[in-house]
Amino acid sequence: MLQKKNTILVIEDELPIRKVLAISLESVGYKMIECDNGKEGIRLSASVQPELILLDLGLPDIDGKEVIAGIRQWSQTPIIVCSVRNSDKEIIEALNAGADDYVTKPFNSEVLLARIHANLRKAATQETGEPELTNGYIRMDLVRHEVFLHDKKTLFTPKEYDLLRYLLVHRGKMLTHRQILKEVWGDAHTEDLQYLRVYISQLRDKVELDPAAPRYIVTEPGIGYRMETVTELPASIRELATVEA
Ligand code: CA
Repeated sequence: MLQKKNTILVIEDELPIRKVLAISLESVGYKMIECDNGKEGIRLSASVQPELILLDLGLPDIDGKEVIAGIRQWSQTPIIVCSVRNSDKEIIEALNAGADDYVTKPFNSEVLLARIHANLRKAATQETGEPELTNGYIRMDLVRHEVFLHDKKTLFTPKEYDLLRYLLVHRGKMLTHRQILKEVWGDAHTEDLQYLRVYISQLRDKVELDPAAPRYIVTEPGIGYRMETVTELPASIRELATVEA
């Protein structure tokens, strides 16, 4: 079957970095479009309509955060920031402006490709509007409001359910404390970090095999949390699920 190539727009003023990106993106079959300044990046994002955007923050004309705000006025295309700026403040501002993820330079190509893949998949899933969300052995039936772990129905409180749903919908994406609190608890609770910690801990107790070493709900220190995309089940668990089904 012939598959449409995913087009990735790279907005980055350093030529050596664009060259490295071209090699790794093309090696896995992505088509790369590039430019070296923010204004052209905004124009290209409209004319090319890429599936995903890789964005540097330090650009010669306008700041990368302005590029995010510009694109977000009309497009929900996933944007991954790739920047040398590594302060929590910069990362949080970029995510709150509408970026989907943040990778600091120097970056590991494999990690970057994994993040790209996760964000492309999330975008594709959102388009299909599935009545079910799955990630590894977690499955949420959004119609019946039920959660299954290893195909076993498991009880969650309404708030735990809302939080798990939000994390699953945005799986693969780095989420700030503020974003999660705003979406799950509402505008009045954006500073209530303690709520979030308690509920994250409760969720981990339920969904993680080892809550002390979470594989699904990982902490992004100083920023927030990320629901990792878990693609493969250990064979033993897969067999167990098949037998019980
Ligand atoms: Ca730069």
